[in-house]
Amino acid sequence: MDTVHEALRQAILSSSLRPGERLNPGDLAAQLGVSLMPVRHAIQLLAAEGLVEVRPRSGTFVASVSAKEVRETFEIRCALECLAVEKAVSNFSLADRKEMRRLCNAMSRVPRSEAEHRRHEQNNADFHRLFLEAAGNAKLLEMYASLRAHIQIAGVHAGDVDWRTRVTQEAAEHEAIVAAVEARDAAAAVEAMRRHITRSCESLARAVETKNGHAN
Ligand SMILES: [Zn+2]
Repeated sequence: MDTVHEALRQAILSSSLRPGERLNPGDLAAQLGVSLMPVRHAIQLLAAEGLVEVRPRSGTFVASVSAKEVRETFEIRCALECLAVEKAVSNFSLADRKEMRRLCNAMSRVPRSEAEHRRHEQNNADFHRLFLEAAGNAKLLEMYASLRAHIQIAGVHAGDVDWRTRVTQEAAEHEAIVAAVEARDAAAAVEAMRRHITRSCESLARAVETKNGHAN
């Protein structure tokens, strides 16, 4: 059952199934060569994660987000990550600092294959998670996890954004965060994190507007 869940999850996150697309459990079961039951179970799990929407009397759809939802989600994300990085400045162990520097350097290279691309995304998630975990606040982690599906769906919309530009910009922003944490300058670290998340929010929101046909 977990395999079906993982297969559908990957199909959504890699956008083989597009935001807003209707899911037919019968077709999915046939495609995956399984019975209906594991597909229904997987859909329930995906709905709980916020990756699909079950609309009564209408059907099941891949979740989609509006630009407004992206901005609302990132406003909260920004508050949580600024709090996390502020605490990380004093809470980080030597090992955390080394890991932060390693991930930051690894992400400065532009991915040239699908595998490198996935590695890059994973490094980025690990980088941000390092600060959240160092904050040592379980409620903070819980709130962050509840935003995750929205952030991921927004990323699916923005999948076509030019990679080279995005990676170069992100690398400079990550470097500013790392330099401030290394200098143990909490105010500068918070400011660098705020700039990074605010800028990525705007580029995602614009990508979503373009995809949804409300470019401005
Ligand atoms: Zn980042």
